[in-house]
Amino acid sequence: MDEKINYLAKSGIFGLVVADALGVPYEFSSKEKCEGEPMTDMIGYGTYNQPPGTWSDDSSMTLATVDGLTYSLRVNEDDLREEGSEIDILEIIDYNEIMKNFAAWFFKARFTPYDEVFDYGGTTADGICNYKAGIEPISCGGTNPTDNGNGSLMRILPIAYFIYFLSRKYSFSDDDKMKAIHNLSSLTHGPRRSRMSCGTYVLIAIELLKNSFEDKNLSLDEAVNNGIQLAKEYYENNDEFKETMPYFYGIFDENIKETPKSVIEGRGYVVASLQAALWCLLNNDSYKETALAAVNLGQDTDTTAAIAGGLAGIYYGYDNIPQH
Ligand SMILES: [Mg+2]
Repeated sequence: MDEKINYLAKSGIFGLVVADALGVPYEFSSKEKCEGEPMTDMIGYGTYNQPPGTWSDDSSMTLATVDGLTYSLRVNEDDLREEGSEIDILEIIDYNEIMKNFAAWFFKARFTPYDEVFDYGGTTADGICNYKAGIEPISCGGTNPTDNGNGSLMRILPIAYFIYFLSRKYSFSDDDKMKAIHNLSSLTHGPRRSRMSCGTYVLIAIELLKNSFEDKNLSLDEAVNNGIQLAKEYYENNDEFKETMPYFYGIFDENIKETPKSVIEGRGYVVASLQAALWCLLNNDSYKETALAAVNLGQDTDTTAAIAGGLAGIYYGYDNIPQH
C-alpha cells in the first residue's frame, strides 16, 4: 500500500517538476515563435541561462508545500491516531510552516537546485513580505483582481494528496476540504478566481489520484470531467463564489478539449492558465506530449507545463516520464 502511495507521489510531483524545467528555457517566448520552432525535448540555458533540468519557483514552492504538509501530519500524529474519526483538517494544516518554507525559498534559495532564485511573481513576493511583516498566513495574499496570476495554482498540487489520503482514513466536511484548498491559495493569492482555480484543479487531481489508486480504469477525459463537474456543482451552489462563475465559462460550460487552439493561451492569468493546462492534458496521449504542448503554447511556458505536468504525471505514472 505504501509503495503505491509513494509511486503516486513521485508521479505527480516529478511530473510537475520535470515539466517546469522543460519550460524554463522558453519562458516568455511568443506563441507564434513556439509554433514556428516547436521545442521537442529537454534543453538548457535560454531565458535564464540555467543548465538542463533546472526547475523554477513553481517546483520550489510545490516542494516547500510538500514539506510543510508532511510536517503538519507529523506534529498532529496524536490527533491522527484513531482511524475512522472525524478530524479538523483546517487545524491540522500548519500554514505558518508552509509560509516559513516559502520565505526560506525566496530569501535563502531553499528548495532550489543551485541555490539561486531566478524566477518569481510579484504577487507571491508581496505575500511572502506580508508574512515577514507579521501578517497571519492566510491573510498574506493579495485580493485585488490584479492578483489573479497563476502563482498559487502552480504550487497547489500537494494538497490534493493530503486531502485524498486523509479522506481514506478520516472524515471531514466538503466545505472544510474546499476551505483548506482556498486557504492554501490565499497565502499568496486571495482573489476568488485564484481560489476557485485552485479548487477546481485540486478536485481534478483528486479524481486522477482516485482513478490510479483505486484502479478505476477511467479514461483521462472521464476522470478530468468528473473533477470539473464536482467543482462546478460546488461553486455554483456557493453564495461566496456563484457570481464569479461567468469567469469560468471556458472551463465549466465549454468542452475544453474541443476549444480551438487559437483561443488557448499560456498566459499568467490564473483562469487562462488552468484552461490551457487542461486543454493540453485532454488533447494529448502521453506525459511527454502533454508537457511539450504546454511549453509550446509560449509565454508562461514553465507554469502552464507545471500545472499540466502534475496532472499528466498522476495519470500516466512516474515510469512514463522520460528519464532524461
Ligand atoms: Mg517559474
